Parts: sequence; C-alpha cells; structure tokens
Amino acid sequence: MEEKEKNEKSEQTLRNLGREELIMRLKEMANAEVLPMEERPMGAMCYSIRYPEPIYTFVCPKCGRTVENLRTDPRNHFLSIVSYVKKIRKLGYDAKIEQACLACSGIDHSYDPYDWFPYDVNILFYFRFKGEETYHKTIANNWRMYEAVLAFLRDKNEYFVDHGDLMYVSENQAIIEKMLGIKI
Ligand SMILES: [Zn+2]
Repeated sequence: MEEKEKNEKSEQTLRNLGREELIMRLKEMANAEVLPMEERPMGAMCYSIRYPEPIYTFVCPKCGRTVENLRTDPRNHFLSIVSYVKKIRKLGYDAKIEQACLACSGIDHSYDPYDWFPYDVNILFYFRFKGEETYHKTIANNWRMYEAVLAFLRDKNEYFVDHGDLMYVSENQAIIEKMLGIKI
C-alpha cells in the first residue's frame, strides 16, 4: 500500500471528533510552541502581481441576479476551494460550501482576515458537528482559511502552504473558531 493511501486511511479512522474534543485540541495547539518568523523555512515567493481585466460575470443561484465586472472567475475560485472541502469531508466531517451574491450572503460579508477577496460573490461555508442538527454558516472566501481548518482537523499544528511557507494552526485560531463555530 502506498504511503499516501495509508495516511489517508489512518486519518479517516482517527477523525470526526465532536465539538468538545475539537475545542480541547484547539486549546492544546494554542499553547504549542511556534518558531519565530525568521527561523521558519520559507518557500519561493511569487512577486508578479497581475491585475486582470474585469470580464467575468456570476449569476447568483439563490436570487438569479447577475454580478458583472469581476476580475477573477468565481467558478475557478469556487473549484479551488471545493478541493479543500472534499479533504475535510474525507476526514469524516460534515462540511459544504455554496456561492452567493452579497445580498444573499446574509452574514458579515466584510470578514476576511487576509483582506484579499472583498467579494461581490461570496463563498458560504457550512460545518456541522456530529450529533448536531444545524449547520454553522460563515463567509469564507479565502483558501488560506480552509487550509488552516484542514490542518487543524488533521490534528497538525504545523503545516506548509502552497509556496512552502511554514504556518501554525495556533496562529489561525480566530479563523478556525469562526469557521467551525467554536470558541476556546
Ligand atoms: Zn443572490
């Protein structure tokens, strides 16, 4: 059996912890040691910033309104985040996302800790703990937020982001609390 497969198997049997267990884990990680920034392994930086033409449109599946002049394709953005949600679901957690226009988003649309995506089109993240009936809903447009949640649910305080930078779950505690609807 390949190493990757083996890891995924053991992950599946280990996870799907309930609300209280996850709050406990987050508390433990909050107190774990973190390397200072200058001692962390750094990945390659991406310096080129492109400002593409605003050509994309989005039709809200909830109200049918068309949002025009978007600089990024909301479908691509959605698909890249779907891949994180799939991984969260693979761990045994009940999570899902949907897209909506600003008017249909219904919750604090200004929340983005990285302030990268002040969107007219939002991604709504739903998370439901086992044994609970209702989903916790929040707007989460930034894939970095999903990355933090995924690392936490994998029980890994340390994780590497796309360019190879080392990150810590404990530094993203507010994001995790926000997205899962918990508070330590
Ligand atoms: Zn709408």
